[in-house]
Amino acid sequence: MQLALSISPLKTPSLSQFPEPISLPLRPTHRVSLHPRNTAVNAVKGSGFVSLIGRVIEDEDFRKARAEVHRKGVGVEGYSIEGISVGGHETCIFIPELKAAFDIGRCPPKAVQQSFLFITHAHLDHIGGLPMYVATRGLYNLKPPTIFVPPCIKEDIEKLFDIHRKMGQVELNLDLVALDIGETYELRNDLVVRPFRTHHVIPSQGYVIYSIRKKLKKQYMHLKGKQIEKIKKSGIEITDTILSPEVAFTGDTTSDFMFDPRNADAMRAKVLITEATFLDEGFSIEHARQHGHTHISEIIENAQWIRNKSVLLTHFSSRYNLEDIRQAVSKLQSKVSAKIIPLTEGFKSKYT
Ligand SMILES: [Zn+2]
Ligand SMILES: [Zn+2]
Repeated sequence: MQLALSISPLKTPSLSQFPEPISLPLRPTHRVSLHPRNTAVNAVKGSGFVSLIGRVIEDEDFRKARAEVHRKGVGVEGYSIEGISVGGHETCIFIPELKAAFDIGRCPPKAVQQSFLFITHAHLDHIGGLPMYVATRGLYNLKPPTIFVPPCIKEDIEKLFDIHRKMGQVELNLDLVALDIGETYELRNDLVVRPFRTHHVIPSQGYVIYSIRKKLKKQYMHLKGKQIEKIKKSGIEITDTILSPEVAFTGDTTSDFMFDPRNADAMRAKVLITEATFLDEGFSIEHARQHGHTHISEIIENAQWIRNKSVLLTHFSSRYNLEDIRQAVSKLQSKVSAKIIPLTEGFKSKYT
């Protein structure tokens, strides 16, 4: 007997219904396939199908809920951006496609796989996990990482590693690069990084990662392939190098970084990862500025400067919950065409 059943679309459970972190029991999978779109059961063979359908729906609900709860990264402009950022506690954002981590926080396990690390400033919630990052890469026989730091902290970072080498009698291998604002460093033949000025209570800098592509110079565009080849062989440079800002990361900063004309590339990178430590009227803009941070209302007021395709907001104060964050973000979203995505890993719902 073959029965065709149509079942109304499933209600996707909201994240707020589940505490975070959550441990849901694992269940066996059923051999009944669900239509991927409307989740209707097309055909069920044999008896007892009603209870079976019930279980299938439960499992589908369960699978969706678990996927929501366990969703770690966000897909943004072709990059899968992951990490955790809770103001004052820990900040580490990483992008596997670029093999890059921005700040190291408490060194979340997946950050260890990134071979480039960009440090914005020396507060512990941003560099606390630094020795563990280097040590764990050594433990897994991964190549020594290249760690970029503001020049003014390079010497102290070297001392920090010397102390750990002495205390732990261990080898800690890293390539430490002091990279100043305006300098350029080639990460790969198609990727470079440049620090830019940010404004915090201690010395700080952000980073823009650019992709590089070669474009034929205007004066040769009318030529045919063979002619171009001939000129190229004669040693003349026939291409221009085009730098496109892909990802910008500010770390902790007041909103002042937005108005600096020298930071134009950060404000037009495909993805801007920045902070909004304060979200509500409980804290004034003045308070945010005094502590070297940004209040989301400042970003709302100055939304016209945002030319990015997507903005990932991070570093919310730990006093906020998921609902506070979503509400504040939707206000900003209504002012800009850029897609605003809050990084909410580590934040709980008020319903849990
Ligand atoms: Zn911080
Ligand atoms: Zn800080």
